Amino acid sequence: MSVMTPPKKTTKGDYVDEVLAIVKAKNPAEPEFHQAVEEVLGSLRLALDKHPEYRSAKLLERITEPERVLMFRVPWFDDRGEMQVNRGFRIEMNSAIGPYKGGLRFHASVNLGILKFLAFEQVFKNSLTTLMMGGGKGGSDFDPKGKSDNEVMRFCQSFMTELSRHIGPDTDVPAGDIGVGGREIGFMFGQYKRLRNEFTGVLTGKGLGWGGSLIRPEATGYGCVYFSDEMLKTRKDKLEGKLCLVSGSGNVSQYTIEKLLDFGAKPITCSDSDGVIFDPDGINRDKLAFILELKNVKRGRIREYADHYKKAVFMPTDVKLDHNPLWNIKADCAFPSATQNEIKKRDAENLIKNGCKLVAEGANMPSTLEATNLFLEHKVLYGPAKAANAGGVATSGLEMAQNSQRLNWTREEVDDKLHKIMIAIHKTCFETAEKYGTPGNLVNGANIGGFLKVANAMLDQGLV
Ligand code: NAP
Repeated sequence: MSVMTPPKKTTKGDYVDEVLAIVKAKNPAEPEFHQAVEEVLGSLRLALDKHPEYRSAKLLERITEPERVLMFRVPWFDDRGEMQVNRGFRIEMNSAIGPYKGGLRFHASVNLGILKFLAFEQVFKNSLTTLMMGGGKGGSDFDPKGKSDNEVMRFCQSFMTELSRHIGPDTDVPAGDIGVGGREIGFMFGQYKRLRNEFTGVLTGKGLGWGGSLIRPEATGYGCVYFSDEMLKTRKDKLEGKLCLVSGSGNVSQYTIEKLLDFGAKPITCSDSDGVIFDPDGINRDKLAFILELKNVKRGRIREYADHYKKAVFMPTDVKLDHNPLWNIKADCAFPSATQNEIKKRDAENLIKNGCKLVAEGANMPSTLEATNLFLEHKVLYGPAKAANAGGVATSGLEMAQNSQRLNWTREEVDDKLHKIMIAIHKTCFETAEKYGTPGNLVNGANIGGFLKVANAMLDQGLV
């Protein structure tokens, strides 16, 4: 328990509402951050009555305030010799239970509010993994699409030139996210090494020959499928034979599809920002190999899948539509694996209408609050992102452990640890939901389960 003397009693009223009002006032024009805080704090209401000490220690005010926000200029030369300027960020949100840990996102949509939401979510996700990792997130509004390898390298080197001052293997260990894969991690690791003259596990998602972990590329997708298997088991059901909708066609989607095939399920869709592919025959291993080559090597667009496989239909993105046609295809399970808020109220209604039994979130916060509430109301098995996609960061934690030991574990060893971690996360969420009076509500289970460990560590550490 805390050794801290509690400050004077705070004012009466709903603590959660008070803190939400403060967060909104202090962080204007950051709707994604507000949304993430609202969801977590909403669940915490159930726990706060049992823990008055959190209120007197202003725990919610502290946990919603990043420990540190870094924002910096990233100048670089394009291939025509013209100067370009992007904005770089690193949000060091919470280090109560370990060094800051969380991905870097390179996408044109990146801004402070989106990264704050991601960093906030990361705190609770990392806590759920059972490993000692704090929460952080970073990135840039740099868009790697259409850039040459040399341009991406020059950008990564400039980005790391500034970031290197703030990170380290025991301080802050970034990883990949949207737009940051093995290529970008390699360029950034190389620059860090030149600047610091040290070879350390400062980044995860490294190449296998230089400190990376087997299964790290696969981990988020595999983990999400392991998590859904656990969810289905609670209803004595299984993935075998299930029709599955997957969105996105990047890292998370690719390995979600692969693991679904291992479990005997039938994935029938994928997408990118240009549109959706629907393949009624199912995406088999050969077709998945085509997607991997298209996306990871040729860096092409998903529409090319339909040029190659004639029975597949391509539906271009139509911003005028109030729904995404991907979520209106009849299926048993949905694996949103592209980006935040990709399932809106209408999409959730379509999924429910078509008899979808399970939603497991590979992407971060892919469902709006309205969509989440609909899934919960209709008793859809709903695996929230911070639990369902925690396999990626968990395996990053395993990469850190291997780097510290200067050892490499086998594929089977890492996969087995990942599988056990996903089973443990599901158990925590399931049992916590029950303990706090909302059986089956894994949103509450994940939020409360992730929060308690961090909150208690903060109490133990004094006024941090
Ligand atoms: P990725 O390899 O860059 O793939 C992202 C995919 O989503 C691409 O197909 C991309 O299409 C699509 N996408 C991105 N933004 C979009 C938008 N605004 N509208 C429509 N499509 C969009 O990234 P990833 O690593 O798979 O990450 C996907 C999601 O999983 C993100 O929410 C990420 O935070 C989350 N996540 C990732 C990991 C991990 O280990 N990688 C771990 C936990 C959570 P375009 O190429 O056309 O943009």
